[in-house]
Amino acid sequence: MSYSQLDRPVQFLKGVGPKRADAFRSLGITTARDLLYHVPRRYDDASTVEPIGNLDVGMDVSAMGRVRSKGVIPTRRGLRIFQAVIEDDSGMITVAWPGQPWLDRKLREGDTLLVTGKVRFFHGRQLQPREFTIVARGGESVGGGGKIFVTYPASEDLAQWVLREVFDKNLDEMLKWASDDEYMSQEVLTKQSLPPLAQAFAWMHRPDSIYDAERGRRRLAFDELFFLQLVQAQARRRATELEPGIVHERTNELVRPLHEALPFALTDAQATALREIYADMQSDRRMNRLLQGDVGSGKTAVAIFAMVLAAEGGRQAALMAPTEILAEQHARTLGSLLGPLGLEVVLLTGSLSAADRRAVLGAIESGQSLIVVGTHALIQEGVTFAKLGLVVVDEQHRFGVKQRMALLERADIRPDVLVMSATPIPRSLAMALYGDLDLSILDEMPPGRTPVKTVLRSPDRRDAVYTFVRAQIEEGRQVYVVYPLVAESEKVDLLSATEEHARLAAEVFPEARVGLLHGQLPSEEKDTMMRAFLAGDVDVLVATTVIEVGIDVANASVMIVEHAERFGLSQLHQLRGRVGRGAAESHCILIAEPGEDALERLKVFTESTDGFEIARADLRIRGQGDLFGSQQHGKDPVLRFADLMADEDLLVDAQREARLMISADPDLERPEHQQVRDHLVARYHHRLAMYGVG
Ligand code: ADP
Ligand code: MG
Repeated sequence: MSYSQLDRPVQFLKGVGPKRADAFRSLGITTARDLLYHVPRRYDDASTVEPIGNLDVGMDVSAMGRVRSKGVIPTRRGLRIFQAVIEDDSGMITVAWPGQPWLDRKLREGDTLLVTGKVRFFHGRQLQPREFTIVARGGESVGGGGKIFVTYPASEDLAQWVLREVFDKNLDEMLKWASDDEYMSQEVLTKQSLPPLAQAFAWMHRPDSIYDAERGRRRLAFDELFFLQLVQAQARRRATELEPGIVHERTNELVRPLHEALPFALTDAQATALREIYADMQSDRRMNRLLQGDVGSGKTAVAIFAMVLAAEGGRQAALMAPTEILAEQHARTLGSLLGPLGLEVVLLTGSLSAADRRAVLGAIESGQSLIVVGTHALIQEGVTFAKLGLVVVDEQHRFGVKQRMALLERADIRPDVLVMSATPIPRSLAMALYGDLDLSILDEMPPGRTPVKTVLRSPDRRDAVYTFVRAQIEEGRQVYVVYPLVAESEKVDLLSATEEHARLAAEVFPEARVGLLHGQLPSEEKDTMMRAFLAGDVDVLVATTVIEVGIDVANASVMIVEHAERFGLSQLHQLRGRVGRGAAESHCILIAEPGEDALERLKVFTESTDGFEIARADLRIRGQGDLFGSQQHGKDPVLRFADLMADEDLLVDAQREARLMISADPDLERPEHQQVRDHLVARYHHRLAMYGVG
C-alpha cells in the first residue's frame, strides 16, 4: 500500500503545535486526511450578510463585523449580560448575550464575528444572536475565499478561528495531496457527473457558492455510499455467485394444493414477492434475499410457499425463529397447513427431551422430514441435514450481520437463504444496510384488517385509562403495559416495570392476574410467563420491550405504553403490532408528559398505521445515525456526508457502480482498481471484517 501525504499527523501542518494537535485529537482529528474531511457544518452567503448600516429593528439577519469594544453589564435583576459593539464599513451595532458573561474571556477586541439573529430595539438597535462564530482573530483578514463564509464544527478547546487559520495555511497543500490520493476512475466520475476528490474538498472548504459546496458534498456522499456498497457487493458475490446454488425443481405437486388449501388469496404484494423468490430458487444463483413487510402483512404465508417449493423438489427447508415460543407457533401454523399435504413438520428447540431430540435429529439427518422449524440452534453443530435446500430466517434483525454471514459461510451446506424482517424501513435505508441482499417488499396489507385505535394520553388521565382496562378485562380481554425501564434508576425519574408491576397488582387491578416480564429474568421464567399469557392465565402483562418481537396472542386487545416519548416511532409500531391480531377491536394507548417535544412525533404515530410511513417519519425526525445502530464503530460513523432520504438517487447509482465493479473484477485485482482497493482496505477494514470479506 502506498503512503499518502494525507496520512501525516496534523502536528506537522503549518500553525499546529503539540497543544493544538491535542485539541484536534479531541475532535477526532489526528491526520491531515481527518482534517480535510472535517468539513464546514454551515455556509453563509455574503450576499445574505447584511451591511450593519442597513440593519433595522425587526429584521432577522446575518451580519459580520469587527469587535470594537466589549464588556459585561450587570442588570438590576442580577442577570449579567455580555455585550460587544461590532462594526463594518457601513456602521456599528451592539450585540448582546444575556446570561453569558463568560464570553468576555472568549472574545477579544479586533475579532471578526459572524452573528445571526433578530434586531431588537433596546437603548438603540441591538442584536441578540441565535448563533455566532469568530471567523477571524486580530488583524487577520477573513480571507480564504469569495463570498461564502464557512463555519466548522468547533469545540471548547478548538475555536472556530483556529480552524479557519489552520485551513487558510494548509488547504492548498492538502488539496494537492488529495489530488495524488484520487481513487475513483475518471470513467465513474464522468458517468456520475462528480468532481475529482481535490475539487470536491476545495468546493466544500472554500466554496464560491452554496451550490458548489453542495456539489462537493455529493462527491463525498457518493464515495461513502459506494464503498459501503462495495463491501456488500463483495459479500453478496461471495454468498450467491462463488459457487453455484441449488436449482429447485418445480412440479406444482405441492404448491398447487397449498394454494387450494389456503383460506385466502395472496395479495398482489405477496404474489410479486413469491415470483421473485421462485425465480431465485429456480436459478443456479444462490438466493440471498430480504423479505420486508409490516407486522401482519403475510410474510409467513410467503415463506411457507417457498418452503413448499423446496420440498416439492425433494429438498429440506428450515425456518429459524428468534425464540422458542415463536418457533412453536410457527410449527403449529405450518403443521396444520402442511400436514394435510403429507409433509411432516418437525420442531427442534433446546427444550426437547433427550429422546425427542434424538428422534428429531434422526428425521432431519435421514431426510424423512422436509420441513424443519426451530431456533438458531438449527444451524449449529450437531445438526446434519440430509439435503437442506432453503433456510428462512424470521425476524432477522434479532440475528446480527455476523450470524447472517456465518450461516452463508457454512461450507457444508449452501442453501438458499430468505431472511424476513417486520421492521419496515424505507427502501433507501434497506439498500444501505442490506446492500448484500436482494430485496422484496410487502407494501400491502391483506384485506379486512381493523386498524388498532391509537390515542395519546397525558399521565393525569391514567385513572380513566385504568377504568377502560378494567372493562376490557371483564370482557375477557388481555392487556400489555410496557415501560422503558426494568427497575427504578437513580439517574432518571421514570416509572419502571418492576415497581409498577407491584403497584398495578396490589392497588390498581387487585382482582386481575398481573404478570411481569423483562429481559433480566432467567429465560425459564420469561418462558413460563409468556406461556401463561398465551394460555390466558394472565390478564395484564407488565413488560419492557422484550415483548417487541414475539408472540401472537389474538385475545390481547390493549397495548399501553408508558413514557411513550422515550421510544422511537418504529419501536412503538412494533409494540402496537402485538395487538389487533384477533377479531376484537384493539387499542394502543400512549402515555406521555404533555409539553414534551416528543408530542409532535407521537402525533404522527397516532395518525398512521403504515409501518413504512412511520419509518420514514422516524428517519426524518431522529436522523439516520440511530438506525445504523450496532453497525457504527465508535468515531467511524457509517455515513457522514450522505443523507439517505435526500440522496436516494446517489445510493441507487452507487450500488449499481459497486456491483458492476465487483462482477467485473471480484477481488479488485486489476491495475485500474488498485487505488479503490487500497482505499477500501485502509478506510473500511471494520466493515470488511464485519462482512467477513477482508
Ligand atoms: P407476518 O409474518 O408478516 O407478520 P403473517 O404471515 O403471520 O404475517 O400473517 C398474519 C395473518 O394474516 C395470518 O393470520 C395469516 O393467515 C393472514 N394472512 C396472510 N396472508 C393473507 C392474505 N393474503 N389474505 C388474508 N389473510 C392473510
Ligand atoms: Mg411473522
